[in-house]
Amino acid sequence: NRTIILASRPVGMPSKENFTMETGPIPQVNKDEVLIKTIYLSVDPYMRGRMSGIKTYVDPFEINKPLVGGVVGKIVESKNERFKEGDYVEGHLPWSDYSISKGKNIRKIDPNIAPISTALGVAGMPGLTAYFGMLDIGKPKEGETVVVSGAAGAVGSVAGQIAKLKGCRVVGIAGSQEKLDYLTKELGFDAAINYKSENVYVQLKEACPDGVDVYFDNVGGEVSDLLMRIMNFHSRIVLCGQISQYNNTEVEYGPRIQGKLVTHSILMQGFIVSNYSTRFKEGYEQLGKWIKEGKIKYRETITDGLENAPDAFIGLFTGENIGKQLVRVAKE
Ligand code: NDP
Repeated sequence: NRTIILASRPVGMPSKENFTMETGPIPQVNKDEVLIKTIYLSVDPYMRGRMSGIKTYVDPFEINKPLVGGVVGKIVESKNERFKEGDYVEGHLPWSDYSISKGKNIRKIDPNIAPISTALGVAGMPGLTAYFGMLDIGKPKEGETVVVSGAAGAVGSVAGQIAKLKGCRVVGIAGSQEKLDYLTKELGFDAAINYKSENVYVQLKEACPDGVDVYFDNVGGEVSDLLMRIMNFHSRIVLCGQISQYNNTEVEYGPRIQGKLVTHSILMQGFIVSNYSTRFKEGYEQLGKWIKEGKIKYRETITDGLENAPDAFIGLFTGENIGKQLVRVAKE
């Protein structure tokens, strides 16, 4: 049984040296436990914060201990009456070939409703993040202009499509031409801008002739500084993530924006998806329905092999992924 371990805390951009792999026996199954064979594991930007050793809303990862994150797997042995052999489950589990659970940190998923991998993406935590962030905080209304940064990723691609379903003009910001094409040609975004290109501010103003009513922010930094200049009266800024800052070793200072929030009565609110845990059922049902009806499309970028999980994780910060980045550990 192989397990990926945090060998050292990254400083700045994470590197492969921060990770190592250990091999041990497949764990024994005791009373009330199940043995799970990992099929997919999820690499997520928030894990960078946990690697830093600073307590935020979750405890930091410990050095020389396994990385833990979203996993989809199959029950291969069960001594728990709620689960049987062959059940597919999703949960918060170690980056290992096999792991043990008492059943509290896993939920059953139905492979007949959607491919099991989606339980880590469009029909899982990232989908829920887009759903609650966009609808509860962004509150997009028909005819409004919505801008999403990190738009071609797991959360951003769903957030933008939800705003389209609400009848908005939706503009996505992402880091490559391939991603811009994906947003406008496949997902139905009205316009898309490459933040690595020239004159981003001019392009933004052209794409948002009526200003911006909702900004769903996944990246922070300079992109968000530019957005602030075109936010409308009574607009809403949904602070979902700040990935451009996660590898910074020093605090980056930008324009002081509070004045604009005052003069334009702008609401800016951060959130963590788990704030909405009592409403997850509603989110899963609505996302499942939209996916089934073809109203929400999705893509996955799949890296093969547990040993390549560190590379897949690092790739989030260089923009390797379109849609949800997963690691396939074993065949379904
Ligand atoms: P993504 O699938 O969007 O992957 C990360 C993407 O971020 C990359 O593909 C890359 O795309 C972009 N990126 C990387 N570095 C930078 C940079 N310096 N500036 C701008 N863009 C960058 O990840 P997720 O969808 O899982 O997460 C998106 C955001 O949402 C993250 O900030 C994450 O922390 C946050 N999040 C928040 C949650 C919450 O509860 N609040 C829950 C889940 C996620 P590109 O090529 O466009 O640069």
